Amino acid sequence: MVRFARLAVSLITLTAAVACASGRGTASASMVSAPPKAERRSAGPAASNDVECTDCEAIPIPGEINRAVEARITDLKARGGDCSRYATVLESSYRSGQITLRPYMWRTGSHLTSGEGKPNGDMMLAREIDSLNVGVRTVDDVLWTMEHEAAHIAFDLASGNEANEEKTDQTVRACQS
Ligand SMILES: [Zn+2]
Repeated sequence: MVRFARLAVSLITLTAAVACASGRGTASASMVSAPPKAERRSAGPAASNDVECTDCEAIPIPGEINRAVEARITDLKARGGDCSRYATVLESSYRSGQITLRPYMWRTGSHLTSGEGKPNGDMMLAREIDSLNVGVRTVDDVLWTMEHEAAHIAFDLASGNEANEEKTDQTVRACQS
C-alpha cells in the first residue's frame, strides 16, 4: 500500500545541515507572543552562532534510549527494503558516536527544531521539548526523530520542503507496526 511510485527525486544535493521540526507541538512556540527581553538573547540576529545557548549542551544518551535504538536497528534490518536502508545509516551514525542528544528542542529561526541531520551522518536530537515541561517527548518520539533524520540522509531527501518531509515520514511510518 505504501508502494508509491518513486517521486522523481529532485537532484538537489544536500549541502547544508537539514533541520526538521517533526513531531507534535512544534508550532506552538512561534504562536506564543514572545516575552521581549528574555527571548531576545536567543532569538536575536546573532542567534545562529549559538553563543548564548546555555541549554544546548549535549547530554549523555540515556540507557533506555540506547536500548531502544539497538532493538530498533535489529527490527528495521529484519524488515529489509527501505527500512533496512535507513537502518544502515542509523546504525552507522549510532555506532560511530555521531548522534548528539540535546536536553531540549532548539530554535531555528522562528521554529523549534527536534532533530537535524547532515549528509555525513551527524545527527542532533532533542530529548525533551523544553525546560518548562510544556510537553514531554517519549523515548518513542526521540526514536521517531532519529529514524526520520536517518531516512532523510539515506534517501537524499533534502529537509525543509513539505513533499520531502511527507515522504520521509511515510518511509518511517511504513517501517512501524
Ligand atoms: Zn525532516
